Amino acid sequence: MKPNSLALLLLLLLALALPPVATFAQEKKQSPEVSPTGYTDTPYLPGGKWRVHDDNRPRPVVVTPGETSAAAPSDAIVLFDGTGLDEWVMEKDRSPADWIVKDGFMEVPPKGQGVGGYIQTKREFGDVQLHLEFATPEVVQGNSQGRGNSGIFFLGRHELQILDSYENKTYADGQASALYGFKPPLVNASRKPGQWQTYDVIFEAPQWDADGNLLKKAYITVLHNGVLTQHRQPYLGATGHKSVGNYNTIAEKGPIKLQDHGNPTRFRNIWVRELKLNAND
Ligand code: MG
Repeated sequence: MKPNSLALLLLLLLALALPPVATFAQEKKQSPEVSPTGYTDTPYLPGGKWRVHDDNRPRPVVVTPGETSAAAPSDAIVLFDGTGLDEWVMEKDRSPADWIVKDGFMEVPPKGQGVGGYIQTKREFGDVQLHLEFATPEVVQGNSQGRGNSGIFFLGRHELQILDSYENKTYADGQASALYGFKPPLVNASRKPGQWQTYDVIFEAPQWDADGNLLKKAYITVLHNGVLTQHRQPYLGATGHKSVGNYNTIAEKGPIKLQDHGNPTRFRNIWVRELKLNAND
């Protein structure tokens, strides 16, 4: 027998002499430790309302997630499920929204036919989480801001730009996922024209005190196709074109608007969750 073979044989004999691992596992299973669900004797957190790991602190409400991150969770308000525009009206006169609905999506109607214009939700929102899917026209026409332009306006005034930014040069603060006229996205995560793209957004509404002094700016966090493009970015104010935004108008709630910029941009699967950001304080 070679020395190596002898060593292997000795190891095998040693292993057989040891108690089987399963015995340990079984013993452990028979006496599970009970973990505390909270504490009542820990130090108070700053503010003195709750202790660290406080057992009396209300637990967050359970929300059933959608089967994918794109599917609406149980507490979402569905603004468009592909079948109708019941949640939307025309911005200009609050008449029923007249954008095209077909094949599970809505589309900005062609110009010059007496239809179209911005649409907005009937409901008003403050702090929200929004999911929205869009596709810029598969047939590329125009360039720069003339190509697949639309936008989402929170409170009807703070725009998150929609544009065909796939190999389409335009000013940085006007491309897809930009805070139009102010802040370019961290990266350009655009898909090709005609492909469905996602925005997952957390928008925090601005706040004023009773005397009309601004207490908090509007903030936005954006995932474009799952990629972070804006990270709790404050807005300069209401979005303008070739002008600097401002907070001259007090508005802490408002409709969500979609822009008709003359391009047949498509939308589907739009849902929103109203946020109570300080609910667990
Ligand atoms: Mg736009």
